[in-house]
Amino acid sequence: MAKRAYEISIDETLCRSCAVCWEICTPDVLGFQAPLNKAIVVTQTQCTGCRLCEWLCPDWAIVVHPKSDTKSKVAA
Ligand code: SF4
Ligand code: SF4
Repeated sequence: MAKRAYEISIDETLCRSCAVCWEICTPDVLGFQAPLNKAIVVTQTQCTGCRLCEWLCPDWAIVVHPKSDTKSKVAA
């Protein structure tokens, strides 16, 4: 069975560089970019879709969704 692909959107204007997301992401999908240490996506293909980063980000800066979601939203 094909692995499901996920899209991770990070709003860097909301990110306050707290490090929660890249610390809890065990597949190391997330990292940070110097000098401001804003969260970035490093290896999107490794994302399991667990959504821990989305739930635990204190500033609601991250949204995770399956790539196939886009079609159903357009049709609504
Ligand atoms: S958890 Fe949210 S605020 Fe903290 S570094 Fe990640 S994206 Fe930024
Ligand atoms: S959904 Fe899970 S695996 Fe994907 S980036 Fe967030 S914490 Fe990492």
